[in-house]
Amino acid sequence: MKGLLVNYEYCTGCHSCEVACKKYLGLKENEYGIKVSEIGPFEFSNSSENPKEKWEWHFIPSLTKACNMCEDRVAKNKMPMCVQHCQAWCMYFDEVEELAKKIDGDTRWALLAKKD
Ligand code: SF4
Ligand code: SF4
Repeated sequence: MKGLLVNYEYCTGCHSCEVACKKYLGLKENEYGIKVSEIGPFEFSNSSENPKEKWEWHFIPSLTKACNMCEDRVAKNKMPMCVQHCQAWCMYFDEVEELAKKIDGDTRWALLAKKD
């Protein structure tokens, strides 16, 4: 099964993946194939002295029913539109088993897949 892997530690919330996907799928204004959600900002009261660890504020994309994993592009050995247009180069496309091997213990990742 193919999937998308996002290292959302580096996602800037630029929404380029959303826009590229909407254009590719020809979706209406409030329809999405991939949607970026904002989590936070909120502060942890019991955090360490490191200011970076004191706050939670990140962005994370998720797939909708409209996503077809860019099957026609992939059949031509092209990258999915969302991956190709990711401004932070934090999205990957491959077999989910291969993607899982990229997940390290240092940063936060989301593995996205959907049934056929
Ligand atoms: S894989 Fe293709 S259809 Fe799915 S979210 Fe990315 S651009 Fe949209
Ligand atoms: S294009 Fe990349 S950096 Fe921008 S919102 Fe999507 S996943 Fe995040």
